[in-house]
Amino acid sequence: MANKEPVNPSHATFDLFVQAKTCQEVKKHFTELCRQLQLDPKDYSNFYTKLKESLNYWKAKAVWTKLDKRASQDVYEQGKACAQNKCLVLGAGPCGLRTAIELSLLGAQVVVLEKREEFTRNNVLHLWPFTIYDIRELGAKKFYGKFCSGSLDHISIRQLQLILLKVCLILGVEVHTGVEYKGLIEPSVEKGWMAKLEPPSHPAAAFQFDVFISAGGGRFVPEGFKHKGLRGQLAIGITANFVNRNTAAEIQVPEISGVARIYNQKFFQDLLNETDIDLENIVYYKDDTHYFVMTAKRKSLLKRGVIKQDYSDADQLLAPANVDHAALYLYAHDAAYFSTGGQLPDLQFALNPAGQRDVAMFDFTCMHRAEHASLVRERRGKKLLIALVGDCLMEPFWPLGTGIARGFMASFDTAWTVRSWGMGVQHMTVIAERESMYQLLSQTTTENTSKKYPLYSIDPKTRYQRINLSAIHTRQVKKPFIKAEGKSDTMSGFNELLRWCQNSTRGYDNVNIKDFSQSWKSGLALCALIHHFKPHLIDISSLDEANRVHNNQLAFSVINKELGIPPVMSPSSQIDKLSMVVYLTQIKDAVTLPPK
Ligand code: FAD
Repeated sequence: MANKEPVNPSHATFDLFVQAKTCQEVKKHFTELCRQLQLDPKDYSNFYTKLKESLNYWKAKAVWTKLDKRASQDVYEQGKACAQNKCLVLGAGPCGLRTAIELSLLGAQVVVLEKREEFTRNNVLHLWPFTIYDIRELGAKKFYGKFCSGSLDHISIRQLQLILLKVCLILGVEVHTGVEYKGLIEPSVEKGWMAKLEPPSHPAAAFQFDVFISAGGGRFVPEGFKHKGLRGQLAIGITANFVNRNTAAEIQVPEISGVARIYNQKFFQDLLNETDIDLENIVYYKDDTHYFVMTAKRKSLLKRGVIKQDYSDADQLLAPANVDHAALYLYAHDAAYFSTGGQLPDLQFALNPAGQRDVAMFDFTCMHRAEHASLVRERRGKKLLIALVGDCLMEPFWPLGTGIARGFMASFDTAWTVRSWGMGVQHMTVIAERESMYQLLSQTTTENTSKKYPLYSIDPKTRYQRINLSAIHTRQVKKPFIKAEGKSDTMSGFNELLRWCQNSTRGYDNVNIKDFSQSWKSGLALCALIHHFKPHLIDISSLDEANRVHNNQLAFSVINKELGIPPVMSPSSQIDKLSMVVYLTQIKDAVTLPPK
């Protein structure tokens, strides 16, 4: 028989669900599927099993095979690890959805809130090999046939959201769109932690939870968390999307997977000579659109009139009133045209959800990250674990494509934290472990993470090559992270470490430790610390305070060689407070604790 179309209505609906290309379409077909199969999606703990039993369709089975394989990992304890937990996830971006999947596999009840009605972002995300593997193993190819075809190592944000949304729904995650999180409501005698929502009458407003995952993207963090900015050199990113008609000619045009200036001087010089466009790097990916992301130099933006007036302050420089949009469109167009060798002759801008040409300029000069990844709040004896994932935990630099890679790492780490929480691990230990993992996140690269992707799970040991879950001690997180009723934040764990450092370096010239950042800048404090415990390892009198890089280099290499503790930063980099705390804690343990 030539006709391969399914005759069973639920099979046809499943096909529509799988192929759906918008968030609302996905939800509509899913609701219809549940109606046809008489399944209650709110029955989250049995939903997936019942769906499998009721939908005896070969195409669906291919999806079940993938998901069953993931669900069979020991870490989930057969979906019992978090069977008592109720998790609210803020944000249906890729990281919120990816975390929701893991929490659901752990057996938790999971509710996701998303303020937007639709997934609309055309911009394209670079994928590290482990993320490609991960998404494929969730059945991505069934939902989006083009995924991972050929050398594809990227996907548009909205396509990734669609894939993850479909997986979430199949696993029994409740995903609400068009509802905005406005804050937490503290528990009463009868009720637990709840969320204030807009609209306030939304059914999810009645949901009581003991885990709150904030995946709101950007710089959004819930109360109790702080962001800090690491100011670097001025970096101006431009993204542009052009219509992809998928013609034979367009298919031929090779992608540009991250050309940096240092690797192709001639290309950038020619670009400058011919167009006055001066770039640090450029990436071109083909997906639903032709997507370009580039880092542009200030001078060339001024010369081409994109930026009207020069200011030293990046905020003023890139303020909307100081940008000429027509000149920006032309700049992006010309860069795209030149870098594809004129092979994309009919470059027509795709439109963004506001109906405007999809070109944007972003300031990456000051990269933000949250000071802590998690905390526990307690009111009326009811504890709430709050954790950050994705961009709101650590802002990615798009041209290098760290968003999804580090975002998913943090999703897995957070799921591991929730697992410990659900399995009754003491909450201070839960948070100390989460912070220990967080210390590694900003340093993760494809090189220093495990290549054994099939073994990846939420267990951090399967992914990080060097992980010490006790790098941050419980006493260091005791007060800063636990916000209990009527108690203020103090820093007893940090103070104890600070006092130890001060006592150990008392009397050394030019060493005056007052904090975990500036006091360590010259490298003398670190050298003095080593000298105090192991005088034979360092000739302290030979050091010059002004020679910062040398002093730090020396200290790092002695500590690495003699104590086996690898450096957490480069000798010339800015000192990151929490990394320094981890480093010093390790040193303190090595010189004061008896050998294991
Ligand atoms: P996001 O994807 O930002 O998702 C957060 C979600 O939370 C959003 O859907 C938002 O609507 C929702 N939300 C926020 N606040 C609330 C609230 N109060 N209530 C309910 N829902 C809420 N990365 C690249 O690598 N290349 C790019 O070109 C690129 N372009 C981007 C363009 C834009 C406009 C944005 C916002 C991000 C872009 N990124 C890009 C970053 C990339 O999208 C993220 O790294 C990636 O999507 C993972 O982010 P996330 O899931 O943490 O957050």
